[in-house]
Amino acid sequence: MEVVRLPLTFFQTQVQYLRQRFSWVATTPVNYKLYVVGASWAIWGFESYLQWRQYPHLSKKEVPQILADSLDQETFEKSQAYGRAKAKFGFWSGLYSRVLDTGILYYGMWAWSWGVADSVVQYYAPGTSHEIWQTLITCGIQMVFGIITDLPVSVYHTFWLEAAHGFNKTTPTVFVTDLIKGFFVQIAIGVPFLAAFTKLLRWAGDSFVPAVMSFLVAFIVVMQIIYPVLIQPLFNKLSPLAEGELRSRIEKLASGLNYPLKKLYEIDGSKRSSHSNAYMYGLPWSKHIVIYDTLIEQSKPDEVEAVVAHELGHWYYNHPMKLMLVSQLHIFAILTASSVFLHAPPLLKAFDFPDSVAQNPPMQLSFFLFQLLLTPAEAVISFGMNAISRYYEWQADEFAAQLPSRLKSKGFDEKDDMGERLGRALKTLHIKNLSTVWVDWLYSAYHNSHPTLMERLKALKGFETDSHAKSRKEL
Ligand SMILES: [Zn+2]
Repeated sequence: MEVVRLPLTFFQTQVQYLRQRFSWVATTPVNYKLYVVGASWAIWGFESYLQWRQYPHLSKKEVPQILADSLDQETFEKSQAYGRAKAKFGFWSGLYSRVLDTGILYYGMWAWSWGVADSVVQYYAPGTSHEIWQTLITCGIQMVFGIITDLPVSVYHTFWLEAAHGFNKTTPTVFVTDLIKGFFVQIAIGVPFLAAFTKLLRWAGDSFVPAVMSFLVAFIVVMQIIYPVLIQPLFNKLSPLAEGELRSRIEKLASGLNYPLKKLYEIDGSKRSSHSNAYMYGLPWSKHIVIYDTLIEQSKPDEVEAVVAHELGHWYYNHPMKLMLVSQLHIFAILTASSVFLHAPPLLKAFDFPDSVAQNPPMQLSFFLFQLLLTPAEAVISFGMNAISRYYEWQADEFAAQLPSRLKSKGFDEKDDMGERLGRALKTLHIKNLSTVWVDWLYSAYHNSHPTLMERLKALKGFETDSHAKSRKEL
């Protein structure tokens, strides 16, 4: 027990110190609302600046050299037009959501919905305090408001933007049933989550950080298990990948790497869109690979195999686990910082809560409001997170390109051109998805979790020469 208690005590002392250092937070009035609104518009300004940098790239007339053999002028122009349409859509929908957010803050929607929730609770159970119910109703109001205000944006995106560029396969029926199913899934997960979270804060009091951390880790593990079994089947059909060349190629790769491949699926992505992809999920001892029907249709089996090899690279380097650790660290930092604000009446006052609530702030409310203060920090963090993710993508590409030589040493016979095949698959993916080919570096650093196509193709060429040089040395 000492092993656990010592670091916990040490951590508690640090939190105490932090709280003393920032004790003014509990007494000094600050115009947090103005700060949050200002910060959110500053970020909007920065994002618009990035779009302004990117836009000329979307107006370029010439196909990049590296794609000259596979991208014809007509398709290139289509992809540029699609890129410009997405950029305009991004600008207007971004502006719309900033205006909405500002309105929500200006009119004190948090305080208003907390008050409405209180009257509902008082109506059904007069004279009692049902903090959990009140929290659930407050968040429910925000959620319904979010769904309604988001509706015109997603209708426009699906039925105008995507449809105009030939991607939309979603019928109005699918759209509406998705919406209804999504609503109930949010309720089914959100209600127990929020109830447990509120109860946990109440129970753990000031030493809530380790308790909430353990709760979140357990939640993520449970979601990993129930998402593919209970939630995904509501939206998509996963069917076992048919016997044949592709299946036997992937099974061979998996056995060569001792990858615990449990199931290999094809997903009906084409039901909603003709965008294509592949991914994997599961627990360390039982992995599932899912390939979009659109990818199988658009590429040859040996090219799809190379895409799967890239996915296996993520597994080989433990990327999902590492990313989860980084995000745990992120959550840990947020929780620790939030402990300074948990008993701060000025925070609630700034967001229009009446004195009766602000004087003795419910911890979960302070926690939600504190999240708003983090807006600018989150924008900076997304630069870092994307940089990590891009590095991992580069590593997985390298893994795929060098996989044949790795397998040969184990007596497997695999053609040496995996990198080339991956390059071809990426080109096809890109061209069929009409993805943007010319990208501004700063725009990409902020927005992209993957290196650009041109960066990846160049890197793949480099890996190839690396692995040839290596095999020559071995000879
Ligand atoms: Zn990847």
